[in-house]
Amino acid sequence: MRVLVVEDEKMLAELIKSGLEDENYSADLAFDGEEGLFLAKNEPFDVIILDIMLPKLNGIELLKILRKKGIETPVLMLTAKSDIEDKVLGLNSGADDYLTKPFSFDELLARIKAVLRRKFNMADNILKIDTLKINLSTHEVTRDKMPIELTAKEYSLLEYLALNKNKLLTRAEITEHIYNYEFDLDSNVVDVMITRLRKKIDKGFDKKLIVTVRGAGYMIKE
Ligand code: CA
Repeated sequence: MRVLVVEDEKMLAELIKSGLEDENYSADLAFDGEEGLFLAKNEPFDVIILDIMLPKLNGIELLKILRKKGIETPVLMLTAKSDIEDKVLGLNSGADDYLTKPFSFDELLARIKAVLRRKFNMADNILKIDTLKINLSTHEVTRDKMPIELTAKEYSLLEYLALNKNKLLTRAEITEHIYNYEFDLDSNVVDVMITRLRKKIDKGFDKKLIVTVRGAGYMIKE
């Protein structure tokens, strides 16, 4: 899961980022509205955490531009202390939820999960594809009720494929999503990860869920 955090209070932004990374999300930071808009328009995020009071372009304006462009990434707005007007304005501009500062990280995490559940129409935190079940909360994975042990990176890859099921993901998209620009990778890394994931998810099952699209990338097909 990849999150964009647009917040000009750098300490808070860094805290959110490290908290999210502890939960195996990847997080990108933007410290002003223009930078946030640029990233939100050009990179695929699962959720955007958006402060309202930002330099250069405020959160409300940023959100309006995004929605006008047809970008429907769920947005969780951060508002200053109980400013009712901001909340109403935010929700009217297309925000999915809001959180009032100061907030606890656990509360933020719960809101992110709730936004994602709504996005993917899940009644609980369990994503089902054929006989594969992925618990987005606990990261437990089973196939045919048999538990599957995955490393953190393998889990991220599986979750990313599963949340975009039936949609082709290019190697570049996968690399960006899983490694969050950590280092320059050659695309071979993705192929190696896919091979490892296939052994755990598909080996021994008649129906193979991970599909290679020759020359293009990968997808999970239901
Ligand atoms: Ca601010």
